[in-house]
Amino acid sequence: MKPDDLLNNDSFSIDEIKLLLSVNDKQSIEKLQQRAYDVMKQYVGEKVYLRGLIEFSNVCVNDCYYCGIRKCNYKIKRYTLEKDEIIDSARWCAEQGFGSLVLQSGERNDEQFIDFVEAIVRQIKSETKSDKLPKGLGITLCVGEQSSKTYQRFFDAGAHRYLLRIETSNPELFKKIHPDFQLYERRLKALKALKEVGFQVGTGVMTGIPGQTIDDLAKDILFFKEMDIDMLGMGPYIVHSDTPMNSYYYEYSVRKREIYELALKMIAVARIVLKDVNIASTTALQAMYPLGREAGLMFGSNVIMPMLTPAHVRNDYQLYNGKPCIDEFTSDCFECVQQRIESTGRPVAKDEYGDSPHFYYKV
Ligand code: SF4
Repeated sequence: MKPDDLLNNDSFSIDEIKLLLSVNDKQSIEKLQQRAYDVMKQYVGEKVYLRGLIEFSNVCVNDCYYCGIRKCNYKIKRYTLEKDEIIDSARWCAEQGFGSLVLQSGERNDEQFIDFVEAIVRQIKSETKSDKLPKGLGITLCVGEQSSKTYQRFFDAGAHRYLLRIETSNPELFKKIHPDFQLYERRLKALKALKEVGFQVGTGVMTGIPGQTIDDLAKDILFFKEMDIDMLGMGPYIVHSDTPMNSYYYEYSVRKREIYELALKMIAVARIVLKDVNIASTTALQAMYPLGREAGLMFGSNVIMPMLTPAHVRNDYQLYNGKPCIDEFTSDCFECVQQRIESTGRPVAKDEYGDSPHFYYKV
């Protein structure tokens, strides 16, 4: 069986997915990319949808071994933005025509935090209504594992999309990169709860976790399918120096190009297998190579999240080393991202939610 013979398949076995992820010569990668682009064009269109990203707090109760803002990293300054600053950013986002925003933070499960998030969502929805956005900005939340009751409160307040990355669908690998109190089963339960509440649900994995195999990545793609996921955010694993996984820095620097290419192939194969989901071209791609986000778009992504986090705290929200756009002088992300998208020949959607077609039509 040759990878080329599989590209037009409608459904894929694990061995077929592995074969597609394993292509390495230039010509086969180009064919994979082209097929992913065609599938994207057919099922979700060529428009690129913007979600302004506001990282509103770096306080987190968890301790993921790969993450720069994990609770045991005492070197960083903790912050939570004032409500007014978040609302101002949201208003600006709506005025620029983004259509949607993502509110992201570390995980907290206390009542004060839940009330805070709920109140912000409600206020953003009511204050960003306009002729172009009669229901206000579309809101995606990314605030970790919560109870069903909390998810319901967020949904009732007006958020309609939620991102919760599984990071790897291999429970053993998950265990290796998380402390014992963070359970794979609980992450899974939370993803299911989000679906039951009615959110459009996004998840994703890191590509290039030490010890991860092609088999793991192929199973990740099947996991997305089985879980009936609507949105994906996947990126390369990049080492953060102040984490327990910093000992992988040498391995990471040797494998950097390979991990980057694998991350792009994951986008392409996910697009070919899942077809009508939204897939983000993540900032981590750009952290590895300056044109990484543009490459993500060419491999089948249709969403980009320009950073709207106020410049004075950007430096304190680094999940990995080398995150781009944290310098105050590059804070005009909208212009920059727009130019990046246009350089790929893709149109930028304005004043649209750009919801995942999969949520409504289920291929
Ligand atoms: S990855 Fe998320 S949950 Fe884990 S430590 Fe970082 S911010 Fe917290």
